[in-house]
Amino acid sequence: MTTTSTTKFDVAVLGGGIVGSSVAYFLLQEDPGLSVCVVEPDPTYEFASALRASGGCRVQFTRPENIAMSLFSIDFIRKFESNMIANGRPAPVDWVEGGYLFIVPPEQTTGLERNVRKQLAAGCVVDLLSPSELKAKFPSMNVADIGAGAHTPHDGWCDPNGLLWGFRRKAIELGATYIQDRFADGEVDGSAVRSVVLESGNRIVADAFVNATGAWSGEVAAKFGMKLPVSPMRRFEHYFTAGSPVESLPYVKDTARLAFRSEGKGFSGGLVDGSEQRGFNLDVDHDYFERVVWPAVAHRFPAFEAAKCHRTWSGLYEVNELDGNPVIGAWNKRLPNLYTVSGFSGHGMMHAPAAGLGIAELIVHREFRTIDLTKLGYERVEANEPYAEEGIL
Ligand SMILES: Cc1cc2nc3c(=O)[nH]c(=O)nc-3n(C[C@H](O)[C@H](O)[C@H](O)COP(=O)(O)OP(=O)(O)OC[C@H]3O[C@@H](n4cnc5c(N)ncnc54)[C@H](O)[C@@H]3O)c2cc1C
Repeated sequence: MTTTSTTKFDVAVLGGGIVGSSVAYFLLQEDPGLSVCVVEPDPTYEFASALRASGGCRVQFTRPENIAMSLFSIDFIRKFESNMIANGRPAPVDWVEGGYLFIVPPEQTTGLERNVRKQLAAGCVVDLLSPSELKAKFPSMNVADIGAGAHTPHDGWCDPNGLLWGFRRKAIELGATYIQDRFADGEVDGSAVRSVVLESGNRIVADAFVNATGAWSGEVAAKFGMKLPVSPMRRFEHYFTAGSPVESLPYVKDTARLAFRSEGKGFSGGLVDGSEQRGFNLDVDHDYFERVVWPAVAHRFPAFEAAKCHRTWSGLYEVNELDGNPVIGAWNKRLPNLYTVSGFSGHGMMHAPAAGLGIAELIVHREFRTIDLTKLGYERVEANEPYAEEGIL
């Protein structure tokens, strides 16, 4: 006969990936007296998006909330190794300040200039480059069909595995309890979530619950009767080499959603297909690089004509179908103690620090204190009012 238990915490975080672990860490920073548990079924994170991510962190957004989250998070990640020492052990994340470069065709130059003005006004370092300036900086690049580029030299990339484990170890050092189990159902009364039932049959009672289950968050929300338009979308990442010498490159992104960067002696990246069928499909299409990525990369950098793909892997984007931006906040109208932090649509690693802090502030102080993320709340979903980025992928 198996016996089940009921345990009480102040806050129960569902999902212990990079976002859930950040929430747990910041909760205990904001209020060390809290009891916090994190429900995470898989300590190997086999299917978690975080460990399949490319590691990119950039300020090139247009919504003030996203720019502010990037500025906060990049600074946090830059100092992560020494600031997140847990039990005497540093937390390396291999931060590389390699920069980002957005390139656009001539007809989108005005839009890019507008974006750059917004980023400059928010305190970002951004250089708007003409095709000839691009060519001087990146001699391998074909600039014939480019109108302009925006270069953010203080952006870069890090190791998502190090970031996840750094948050997790530090949260545990501060007192968080990781429970190896899976959320199965929510128990709700008229105005609040009272408890959650786990796959084991165990029950957790808490004052606040946080849905940080990434690509699974739409399903998890539904168990509370909440419609969260977040779906899993497969995306491929490739490691490839150029074939001919190419200078070290920043994280290059174009409007066709080609996105890649230098990695060791080669390059890491891919081309996102936003029309990919939604679902938990992690099958790898081994022809995708040759069919889709290679033509785009070889057009932009002819030195990649003889490029070789060494490895392709798949992962899941947690796509907010409403507007591609995250939902960060409580379900104020119906279950105010149910918080959501999901739907980053490909930006959840870089924004995990700021989003985790935001949710922690909301739970502990009842308000956002560092960055006002109100516009990213669930209210816009209920009102069906998208709050999308402008011309930024
Ligand atoms: C190929 C690829 C490249 C990417 N590149 C970048 C990039 O360059 N920069 C960037 O910022 N982002 C990038 N991303 C996106 C980024 O990986 C995600 O936005 C981020 O990992 C989301 O973190 P998360 O903690 O919400 O989700 P996850 O890391 O997926 O964690 C969610 C956790 O919830 C757990 N879970 C699931 N169901 C349940 C349940 N019922 N109960 C309890 N727990 C549950 C899972 O086991 C998992 O560990 C990329 C993603 C992919 C796939």
